Amino acid sequence: RARLAGDGRLAMFEPAMAETAVHRSRLEDELRRGIQAGELQLYLQLQVGPQGDVAGAEVLVRWDHPQKGLLSPAAFLPVAEASDLILVLDRWVLAQSCLLQLRLKAEGRRMRLSVNVSARHFQQSDFAETIIDLLDRTGADPGLLTLELNENVLVADPDDVLAKIHRLSALGIEFALDDFGTGFSSLSYLKRMPIHEIKIDRYFVQDAPVDAASASLLESILRVAHSYGLRVVAEGVETVEQAQFLRERVPEIVCQGYLFHRPAPASDWLQASDDLVAPVSPLLF
Ligand code: C2E
Ligand code: MG
Ligand code: MG
Ligand code: MG
Repeated sequence: RARLAGDGRLAMFEPAMAETAVHRSRLEDELRRGIQAGELQLYLQLQVGPQGDVAGAEVLVRWDHPQKGLLSPAAFLPVAEASDLILVLDRWVLAQSCLLQLRLKAEGRRMRLSVNVSARHFQQSDFAETIIDLLDRTGADPGLLTLELNENVLVADPDDVLAKIHRLSALGIEFALDDFGTGFSSLSYLKRMPIHEIKIDRYFVQDAPVDAASASLLESILRVAHSYGLRVVAEGVETVEQAQFLRERVPEIVCQGYLFHRPAPASDWLQASDDLVAPVSPLLF
């Protein structure tokens, strides 16, 4: 277990330290400061259609920490998600994604952007209003925005979930169910959910070509998705075998994974990349 050194500073074993309350609250303070200081960055990972076409891109946040370097969400999201800081983070990412969409469009690229929404954020009673407000203020096209929810969001209060999804879908926003297969919901659950897309977790994708049980599970997911008319995105496609396995079963499947594209800074897609990631602006709060 993690222990504090005598002087109250954290000792050397970093990973276990993530467990301690002191570490959590320090990291939380630091993240709050980092967001204010403009240290978060948007990365994009392309989603590739059957003809090698770009079907869209997922927005993935990174923290360019002044001492620790570029941090993945795993290093800071759990801490953010344990507090309301996740609301600040998610809204920052959403606002920047709207601005990115506009700048891409101005440069002739109409690109659908998929943005992750954490459970705590989605469960806010004013979630739909804040999204609508953001779209109003930025002028971003709701028809080019997908919000990614995970299954655990959906089991909370079905009526509330349905109301929010319906309200935002009416504007043209699409919803994706992220990490499909890893959460609590069953396949039959999809019937009640007015979502547009499922993202099959990479766990199923990776094993499918080599493991019969994973393969048949994946095949049932694909069948159900098809019968509900849902778009399917496969996450974590790393090998040609995985891509072939998927495309043989669902020719129109969209693939996202290192085989096709690794997440890269969003500014790579812009000709003028000067002020893409601006520090927190009044737009946000
Ligand atoms: P996710 O939404 O399921 O995103 C996919 C994750 O898989 C990303 O990890 C991506 O870099 C990684 N990935 C993509 N292709 C491959 C592959 O071929 N192989 C492997 N092994 N991994 C692949 P990342 O960027 O570390 O993000 C982790 C999670 O953090 C995301 O999982 C998402 O749940 C969350 N996240 C990322 N950005 C945001 C954000 O802005 N807001 C919120 N609330 N959550 C975010
Ligand atoms: Mg996602
Ligand atoms: Mg996922
Ligand atoms: Mg995830």
